[in-house]
Amino acid sequence: MTTTEPSSSLAALAHLFGDHATASGAGSAFSCEQADLIAGALIELGDVRAAVRWLVGHAEGDDYEHDSHAYFFVGLLSPSQVDQHALGYIVENLL
Ligand SMILES: [Zn+2]
Repeated sequence: MTTTEPSSSLAALAHLFGDHATASGAGSAFSCEQADLIAGALIELGDVRAAVRWLVGHAEGDDYEHDSHAYFFVGLLSPSQVDQHALGYIVENLL
């Protein structure tokens, strides 16, 4: 392991938060700002896919009028299109 790789416990944490079941089940319990902080940490750990999955799971509980991530689901979108919205949000706001 090099010094730039996350420790196994941090990699496991990224895997946990990036798991669809965890993100869907627990994501809505976090505010948008808190969800962004977690996504930012996942990105710093080098796992952008986990950050996307985390934000999509969190966004399932977002309110269209008041929350930052609800627009991920606007329209009749396939799961990959929702992921693209989340990735675009990450590029614009978290990188
Ligand atoms: Zn949100």
